[in-house]
Amino acid sequence: MKSPWGKVRIGATEWEIVKDEHGLSHGMFGTTDHREGVIRLAPGLEHWQTRLSAMHEILHALSLSLWPGGDEDELTEKQIVGLSTVFVSFIRDNPEFARWLVDVC
Ligand SMILES: [Zn+2]
Repeated sequence: MKSPWGKVRIGATEWEIVKDEHGLSHGMFGTTDHREGVIRLAPGLEHWQTRLSAMHEILHALSLSLWPGGDEDELTEKQIVGLSTVFVSFIRDNPEFARWLVDVC
């Protein structure tokens, strides 16, 4: 299975996803640092935890790319927790549709 670590493009910016103890924060398993463009995920997680945490932090980064000023339209933590869970489930339950979404014509 391919690892999530490395560079990803989120909006107009390239981010780095790294494994880092500092990913452990406030009972969560990841952090999003928009100043450095780094998503940190805690090491030693179960695969499903890493997957959900990665999607959670990516949604934070997407929210920051849409509303960089952090205004009131930014996604809330509650919305990100819910969306990351249903989005990962949707992709897992519909791999053909997910492949179709990313298929380059
Ligand atoms: Zn969060």
